[in-house]
Amino acid sequence: QSTLKASSKDPYPDWKAGDPVPYAALCTTFSKIEMTTKRLEILAHCSLFLRQVLRLTPDDLLPTILLMINKLAADYAGIELGIGESLIMKAIGETTGRSLQVIKSDQNEIGDLGLVAAKSRSNQRTMFKPKPLTVRGVHEGLMQIAIIEGQGAQARKIGGIKKLLAAADVETAGKGTKGVDITKNKGGPSEAKFIVRTLEGKLRLGLADKTVLVALAQAVVVHEVLQQGNKVPSTEQLAKGETTLKSVYSELPSYEVIIPAILKHGLSHLKENCKLQAGVPLKPMLAKPTKSITEVLDRFEGKHFTCEYKYDGERAQIHFVSHDSAEQYATAAPKEGKTEKGISNIFSRNSEDLSKKYPDILAKLPTWVKDGTKSFVLDCETVAWDMVEKKVLPFQQLMTRKRKDVKVEDVKVKVCVFAFDLLFLNGEALVNKSFRERRELLHESFKPAEGEFAFATFGNTDQLEEIQTLLDESVKASCEGLMVKMLDGPESSYEPSRRSQNWLKVKKDYLSGVGDSLDLVVLGAYYGKGKRTSWYGAFLLACWNPKTQNYETVCNIGTGFSEAILETLHEELGNHVIDKPKPYYSHSAGNKDQPDVWFEDKFVWEVKTADLTLSPRYKAAANEILSSGGKGVSLRFPRFIKQRDDKKPEEATSSGQIAEMYQKQESVAKNKGPSVDDDF
Ligand code: ATP
Repeated sequence: QSTLKASSKDPYPDWKAGDPVPYAALCTTFSKIEMTTKRLEILAHCSLFLRQVLRLTPDDLLPTILLMINKLAADYAGIELGIGESLIMKAIGETTGRSLQVIKSDQNEIGDLGLVAAKSRSNQRTMFKPKPLTVRGVHEGLMQIAIIEGQGAQARKIGGIKKLLAAADVETAGKGTKGVDITKNKGGPSEAKFIVRTLEGKLRLGLADKTVLVALAQAVVVHEVLQQGNKVPSTEQLAKGETTLKSVYSELPSYEVIIPAILKHGLSHLKENCKLQAGVPLKPMLAKPTKSITEVLDRFEGKHFTCEYKYDGERAQIHFVSHDSAEQYATAAPKEGKTEKGISNIFSRNSEDLSKKYPDILAKLPTWVKDGTKSFVLDCETVAWDMVEKKVLPFQQLMTRKRKDVKVEDVKVKVCVFAFDLLFLNGEALVNKSFRERRELLHESFKPAEGEFAFATFGNTDQLEEIQTLLDESVKASCEGLMVKMLDGPESSYEPSRRSQNWLKVKKDYLSGVGDSLDLVVLGAYYGKGKRTSWYGAFLLACWNPKTQNYETVCNIGTGFSEAILETLHEELGNHVIDKPKPYYSHSAGNKDQPDVWFEDKFVWEVKTADLTLSPRYKAAANEILSSGGKGVSLRFPRFIKQRDDKKPEEATSSGQIAEMYQKQESVAKNKGPSVDDDF
């Protein structure tokens, strides 16, 4: 509750009830958030602003929330920001009448494109004061930019960016906190700065999506209590509102559905009105890594659990509703795949719509369904399948499939779907049932078809030798190892979006390593030597810190690449070179540690390592490990495994996870002390 008292004044007095929310008001709040690192203060600013929106202009609640989480729509809509630096620089130049050369030199000096835009805009003489920007106008403008495709797309995108920048406020444009030059004194509500950061896809306010969700819950509870004539909500009311919204959002992560429902029915009735729906992907449950079968046995001691093969393919969430129950399919769903028997979509781990990648699955889907199965959401893994040998093929084969506009008749790499969970059946969410029940329903509702659809192989045993045998067999069947899952009771429910203790992964090649491979973002590269001179020979990788919203460097990597891969990477990454590291790249300042080129944060790679060590050259988890003395964690003998096209940079391994891995390793080797820094 203390968070609500942080500020009681209207954040923006000029805004009247019914007016579209002024974008300047949102920027004022952003600026306040930017100036603090305290989570409770951030929450208070955010929630206060949302209360204001609810009181004055509730119709704008949705675009306000979307701009706060720096998204234009739910993930499955596939509408993304993250516009390249060169395009934004051109637009800044053209809007403000400065040459590209000057913009580039400013960017070199300041290193933050948002501030460059702010400075450029403030130096501009304008004849007319532009019409003030509104939150809904900015959201619409950004949406138009994001969906531009086809011929002349770049020029049209620049046109869209120019329109927004030309309407940005000039008065506050170049002013940081207390009116001082923005490039010297950060902060300040400059609209140009926040427009550019939004376009880049990184607001850098330390405003986590989860905080926005909690702020929304608080704002709605306070608003509803005030409307009922009471003064302040009780702590219990606030906590209840938060729990309700979190649980609804985890099953139905779509503000497009939730916000209208809150406005119409109120938060206390949200659960009845917003349930898991076919057509809206829920965030998948994730597993914790383990290093050995004995660790699994320790963690699950005295509990019933099951060991499933861990298939090495692509996660897929398949949603289906038969035509006669079509009204069950979410209206907010992306354009659905119509089949003879129903409507369906396939979503990735990222909630991206994969329906155009897997038309072959959608076509066959109805033949795997038993009579009486009218609607469902399946959690599965699609795996490349050898039709002749009738066995699973390595992941690399799956990667060769086209991602879009695949025609069934052109499919060369056949896939088999291995189903391991059932989350929704015949109009009812199953996530709160035990896994044993969910699995039974899965087996009752579907029929396997060789080489097309199968249930994940499993064994319910707690005997070490039997688990070892399953692990060996899974590896022989070209799987990655085992997924060990709790079977009974509330602990075995499906926990959307959580990396849960109740799902453990044991990978075949963990056993000597740190427990798991890591997914890291490529930030820079070094030119090769000898045979590799025409390409990059090594790369600088980083993990993601969701708290500070910075990438923290973690290693240089030069092993695991074939020449063909290096050539492809050179071509792909070459299109994303930038002159300077972005302000949210956290790396050692030492001269000899700088890569030859820097890249936009686009690519995620899976990497294996022998173990973890501390190093002054890197920054990963430096603030999370108290005993590190400011050194970062780094990988020893890192090895490239594959590109992770299904992960966004913000879904890379987090600093927290790296700290956890490091601490686990150190507690195992308690008496050894930290290992020496001898990285690549
Ligand atoms: P993480 O973020 O947990 O590292 P990841 O995508 O890198 O996720 P893995 O570490 O390989 O994945 O392990 C989890 C993934 O294993 C799941 O997301 C799913 O795609 C896959 N998988 C294969 N078989 C199963 C199974 N039987 N049960 C659950 N997941 C499975």
